[in-house]
Amino acid sequence: MRLQVQRYELDVQHIPGRDMLLADALSRAHLDDTDASLQDDVEVIVHSFTDALSVSPSKIQQVAEATAEDQDLQQLRSTISRGWPDSIADVPQVVQPYWTFRKELHEAKGILFKGHRIIIPRSMRNEMLAIIHETHMGTEKSKERARAVMYWLQMTWQMEDISSKCPICAGF
Ligand SMILES: [Zn+2]
Repeated sequence: MRLQVQRYELDVQHIPGRDMLLADALSRAHLDDTDASLQDDVEVIVHSFTDALSVSPSKIQQVAEATAEDQDLQQLRSTISRGWPDSIADVPQVVQPYWTFRKELHEAKGILFKGHRIIIPRSMRNEMLAIIHETHMGTEKSKERARAVMYWLQMTWQMEDISSKCPICAGF
């Protein structure tokens, strides 16, 4: 019985659904102890990000720099690198909202990822909302595109909030 439970947990770790690409990359990198393959996959993710949002690659450097200055994300980053404890009570309060999807969270090149979505630091969230909103995200398509490449806590709520206050979005 215990063996079955362990096997189940192993399966869950290896099949995180849509986030398989990065998870595979990370497990490979972990096994090889070289991050060459991880680096390739991170580059694919970064390309999807800049492509979907029509931003320049330098935006990624800004994400890394702003992540370094984001206190909450730095606590998340330390928790990821130390390894998650057995109990949610043992993680810092600002990290607790990430608990349910902790197995999807990774760090590479100073950037945090939820699966293959880039986690946007607080100081850049308004800017990213404005970028998505350039095309008026009242359209489901642009919301989906944004959600596919980036993430932060309450991102969906903030996107809805902006489009609900915008007369153009409201027209959709
Ligand atoms: Zn709008």
